[in-house]
Amino acid sequence: TAPTGEVEEDETQAKALNYVRKASDAKDNPKYKEGNTCNNCMFFEPTKNNGCTLFAGRRVEQGGWCAAWNPKPA
Ligand code: SF4
Repeated sequence: TAPTGEVEEDETQAKALNYVRKASDAKDNPKYKEGNTCNNCMFFEPTKNNGCTLFAGRRVEQGGWCAAWNPKPA
């Protein structure tokens, strides 16, 4: 069965996307840029319990990050 609840770092999809609950833990990832967090990612849904579209709407840390980060449209 698919995992539910808050996304954990050791889940298959989270590992595939290098998700970390604390963005600074991604500092060695070449895709990571300081200041990029779930909070300013286009896939973050703050009005839906801090869910992430890419994780089926499950909750992520607003200060987290993953390799699918893309900026919110201005
Ligand atoms: Fe966070 Fe965006 Fe990755 Fe979702 S896609 S986990 S909101 S960085």
